[in-house]
Amino acid sequence: MNWKTQKTNVQATWRKYGWVPPTELKPPPQEVEMKFEDYQKSIAKDENHMKDYIERYKTENGHVEYCPYCITPRMDAISCCDENHWIEFQHFDDATQNEIISDEWDKAFGARL
Ligand SMILES: [Zn+2]
Repeated sequence: MNWKTQKTNVQATWRKYGWVPPTELKPPPQEVEMKFEDYQKSIAKDENHMKDYIERYKTENGHVEYCPYCITPRMDAISCCDENHWIEFQHFDDATQNEIISDEWDKAFGARL
């Protein structure tokens, strides 16, 4: 599998989860001279890591309350956006859940695949 095919596969995984893949997925940095198969392995590992992260996030945060207007976690707030209205993570539609998870992923790891 060459680099272009690998890149297309990774982007397809992103789309499957309803996330917008980054437009420019960078090839392995020249200066590191990582072997191509090692690079493929590292991508596969990231991909599994991402899937695990999504599943774990949904399991562990299903009952976390969010403000439905600005999608901010409630934490200890009494009101948000001038309302006292909260929605549990698990009750958001898939698109919103994916948005929340991809934001969290960005915060945790800086960048997507
Ligand atoms: Zn709010």
